[in-house]
Amino acid sequence: MTNAAERSLSQVWDVIIVGTGMGGATVGYALAQKKLSVLFLEKGGIVATGQNENTVNTPASRIQNGWWPQPFSQTNPEGRHKQIYAAIGCGFGGSSMHYAAALERMPATDFDALQTTHQLVPCWPISYKDFSPYYEAAEKLYGINNADDSYHLRLSEWDQALITTMRSAGLKPEQLNIGMKYDKECTECISKICHRGCKADSHTTCLKKALQLNNCFLLDFCDVEKLEADQHEVKLIHATYQGQSIKLRGNIVVLSAGALHSPQLLLKSANAYWPNGLANASNQVGRNLMFHGYEIYAIWAPKRFNKIGLQKKSISIRDFYLYAGCRLGYIQSMGLSAGPGDIAIFIKNRLRYSGIHHELLLSIIAKIPSYLIARFLGEASIFAALIEDDPNPDNQIKLNVKEPNGATFSYTITDDLRERANTLYRTFIKYIGK
Ligand SMILES: Cc1cc2nc3c(=O)[nH]c(=O)nc-3n(C[C@H](O)[C@H](O)[C@H](O)COP(=O)(O)OP(=O)(O)OC[C@H]3O[C@@H](n4cnc5c(N)ncnc54)[C@H](O)[C@@H]3O)c2cc1C
Repeated sequence: MTNAAERSLSQVWDVIIVGTGMGGATVGYALAQKKLSVLFLEKGGIVATGQNENTVNTPASRIQNGWWPQPFSQTNPEGRHKQIYAAIGCGFGGSSMHYAAALERMPATDFDALQTTHQLVPCWPISYKDFSPYYEAAEKLYGINNADDSYHLRLSEWDQALITTMRSAGLKPEQLNIGMKYDKECTECISKICHRGCKADSHTTCLKKALQLNNCFLLDFCDVEKLEADQHEVKLIHATYQGQSIKLRGNIVVLSAGALHSPQLLLKSANAYWPNGLANASNQVGRNLMFHGYEIYAIWAPKRFNKIGLQKKSISIRDFYLYAGCRLGYIQSMGLSAGPGDIAIFIKNRLRYSGIHHELLLSIIAKIPSYLIARFLGEASIFAALIEDDPNPDNQIKLNVKEPNGATFSYTITDDLRERANTLYRTFIKYIGK
């Protein structure tokens, strides 16, 4: 252990932050700028730039590629288990090192009460207006600029024709807000770690800058095991740092270990004061787990162009987020054309989730369909429809020491979610198909 690391163990920090993803690195940088002493704890380390596909499946190679090392087990309603490698980053920047950098605001209506098919979800205790200044600060930090001159660089001739068609059909396509410094060489590092530093991930944007301040320090390869607390506050953090058990003290502890691991750590930290898990008097910790439904649309330009050029993440269609009293979702361009390479990656990922992990077999299975699909799709461009799921207390994370990751999660895709996905598709087609 270095001298600096040893000193970090004896110091009482103003703030200790668990996780250096978008949440942890951003809040840590903001607090460090306010002159507070900040210690970051991160399970992974710095990850080399480049293509870091979520395909490797040994813990060491996964950490090296910036992915969470262990598979997570999903329990379906019939009680069967399926192990999956979730697309969760682990290392400096967390999941944001791999992310696609589309940084959209949630609409103001998301802060209001919501009547779903099952329940009335109460409104947030704060309003969109309260949140607005923080959105503005985060957008500034992550390089989102609505009067962005680079937007026209992103818009191919094809995109422009598509926007014109959408507008004449009554839609209001808008600029997709992307945390990227576009210049002529930017190829958009989607699912990759950007080697030019132009993608605004939380490592480049916040962590690196925080660590240049002399009031910040980071312990990498530090796995936080438990938060020791009385009824009022966290007293100690127990962790394993480079194979050694350590204890750390901070006046404030920020838990930003991601949507699966933050609740898991709280549940693991149960004690006599908190028998159901830390901060879990309500029995809500780990419940209402939400993903978003995800569908892929292929869209052709209204008239053929010789070349559609490099597709960029450019267009956002928000017309159907709330539509006829129903919450549907966003549609946004993915920055992909329908070439055989991209289609093969998509097919392989789907197959991996269904349990096939043999790389050669995956390549063989994906090869012919990807060429056929690419031929069929021609010069289509790929859009993603993101459909909002609703909270459901049975979609939940539960501890299970027998599992490689120490927990399982359950998640049911409801008929309502399927129906809203179909409605979004049908409604969009009604406009765009004209
Ligand atoms: C391929 C991909 C594309 C995406 N594209 C987009 C997009 O375009 N737009 C968008 O808004 N979102 C996108 N996302 C999602 C987005 O990246 C995440 O929602 C966001 O980064 C989550 O931030 P977080 O800080 O909550 O958690 P994370 O980024 O998951 O960070 C948690 C960190 O905590 C660390 N950690 C966890 N447990 C411990 C522990 N016990 N001890 C120490 N450290 C721990 C982890 O190693 C990790 O580094 C994408 C994600 C992926 C994987």
